[in-house]
Amino acid sequence: MQISYSSIELYLNCPKKYYFSQVEKIKAKKSKEQIFGTLIHSALKFLHQPNPLPHTLSQVLDYFKELWESTKEVDWQSEEERNAYFEEGIRILKEYYKKNNPKNFLIVDLEKRFFAKIKEGNHPEAKEHTLIGIIDRIDKISNNYFEIIDYKTSRKMPSQNIVDNNLQLGIYALGFEQNWPKFRKSPLKLSLYFLKHSEKISTQKNQELIEKAKQKALKAISLIEQKKFPPFVSSLCDFCVYKKICPMWKHLYQDLTPDDKQIVDLVNEYLILKKRQENDLKKIKELKEEINKYCDKKGVERIFSEEGYLQRDRQIRANYDFLKIKEILEPVGFWNEILDPSLKKLKKIWQKLPKEIQKKIEKEAKVEKEFKSLRPVFKKMKKE
Ligand code: SF4
Repeated sequence: MQISYSSIELYLNCPKKYYFSQVEKIKAKKSKEQIFGTLIHSALKFLHQPNPLPHTLSQVLDYFKELWESTKEVDWQSEEERNAYFEEGIRILKEYYKKNNPKNFLIVDLEKRFFAKIKEGNHPEAKEHTLIGIIDRIDKISNNYFEIIDYKTSRKMPSQNIVDNNLQLGIYALGFEQNWPKFRKSPLKLSLYFLKHSEKISTQKNQELIEKAKQKALKAISLIEQKKFPPFVSSLCDFCVYKKICPMWKHLYQDLTPDDKQIVDLVNEYLILKKRQENDLKKIKELKEEINKYCDKKGVERIFSEEGYLQRDRQIRANYDFLKIKEILEPVGFWNEILDPSLKKLKKIWQKLPKEIQKKIEKEAKVEKEFKSLRPVFKKMKKE
């Protein structure tokens, strides 16, 4: 399979979104943030392309203003919103220029497309896949030392730990190595540049990062090949262009027929009953505590009321010394019968198992039955 880094990321964020976009190829309008990001990327490419002298800040800003003309077609909420995005673009470029004067950098390539091969195993016959990506900027820092930089227009800045394990940087490092095998053993700086904050967070290439990225990509490819596209609800749904056709949301946007309205009434009834059940269980727990306290205080084991009576039955929960139990059961041939492994026991030890053991066990899982359960969520949702 040939797949881009962005498609892998798309799949990992939400397999259903990947399905709409890459399998069904449903064309969707680009979001404002996407358009804004594309224009900023173009302006930064221009900034670092000497002609033949490096571009000045005012040339870069003029270039951005020219690009901005194309955004008249975008569905802005208002002219103020369009202006706010424009001003943000100007601010980002000014800040960036201050820290990244093009004269000070030795740029090897901009928007460099790469292809990286990955194999499903080490044997010669192992299935091979090709990862594709575009690296925003490659700098030469010193002899045999390069830096890969990817620009981000998101507001959120991840922690150092997340950057150290970043899938994109791992895949880009792999692409760099395969494009320039001469530098395979050389150090490589990997950076994400957060333009809204004018901050760069970097890590260094290492084999663990590349290996993890390969495994993550292979896992996504394997699930795509198995045609597994479940929806994954997250905060990203708010920006998803497929929300109105997604099974997790489309009901909210549908025009309801009388049949649909009947189901809505049933769901309402179900939720009310569930809520009542939850409240009842909570109340029962509180009552039990009060009644037990009263019984202890008054020395009674039965309390009578108009509806009947409550009786306290003595219950003992014992545990055993299983070494002793083994001595008793083994000679009579019953010891093995209580040693049966069970799913419950496996779940109990799951967190204590090393990751590679968990993976081995996961591979052995056989789906016996797949079913859907109804999960009530007591939150009123509105269309955007
Ligand atoms: S709305 Fe959410 S769950 Fe549905 S496809 Fe988009 S991201 Fe996935």
